[in-house]
Amino acid sequence: MIDFHAHLDLYADPHKVVRECVARDLYVLSVTTTPSAWSGTAALTKDAPRIRTALGLHPQIAHERKGELALFERLLPEVRYVGEIGLDGSPEYQRYWPDQEQVFSRVLSLCARAGGRIMTIHSRRAATQVLDALAMEPRAGIAIMHWFSGTQRELARAVDMGCWFSVGPAMLAGNKGRALTAKMPRDRVLTETDGPFAQVDGRAAWPWDANLALEVLSNVWSESIETVQCQLKRNLRRLISHGSACGGPPNFGG
Ligand SMILES: [Zn+2]
Repeated sequence: MIDFHAHLDLYADPHKVVRECVARDLYVLSVTTTPSAWSGTAALTKDAPRIRTALGLHPQIAHERKGELALFERLLPEVRYVGEIGLDGSPEYQRYWPDQEQVFSRVLSLCARAGGRIMTIHSRRAATQVLDALAMEPRAGIAIMHWFSGTQRELARAVDMGCWFSVGPAMLAGNKGRALTAKMPRDRVLTETDGPFAQVDGRAAWPWDANLALEVLSNVWSESIETVQCQLKRNLRRLISHGSACGGPPNFGG
């Protein structure tokens, strides 16, 4: 099972969540929202080869943390995964739009200069602008659109640009999310939860709730759960082997 976008450091007891992920043999991409959170978050999982920590600077706090871009640049050679990064066009973050754009474009250009990275990307209400920024930096690496909620037209553009997608139970609970997922290339889809931000049954999602996405994918694709699981595992393997051309140390064992 795979949770390719979880905020392990933001759970009340991150160590307990990590232990449970290890016990369940979960592959997890543990994302961070600030460069200063990276070292502590990576240390949480030093004995968990299936959990990798991504270096991020979340668009919702870009205005507060843009001073950490220098730290981002210093840490980048140590990582293979970058995220959570992106843009957020929601009304409450609109006033910080110039900061968001500055941080995102800087992060993409640093990734390009470093040889490319595997990136998990936030694009709420900003899919077109995120795709525009990615188009400006085609060497930034492999973009995985997390919880994509753009239009069908924006999705088609993302697919044409070679983007991957991670989909979770919260996104798949709605008709729109399912309709978008149906149009994603099956060989570029992974599961995620976005826990603890995303909710499942009125509570914060756990990384192992990625399981719930399997059932929906099985319906959307008209395939058995086993076939879906094989497809996702194959996708992860391909992403990682792709990503070995993307700089940084080899990662994600198991
Ligand atoms: Zn997130």
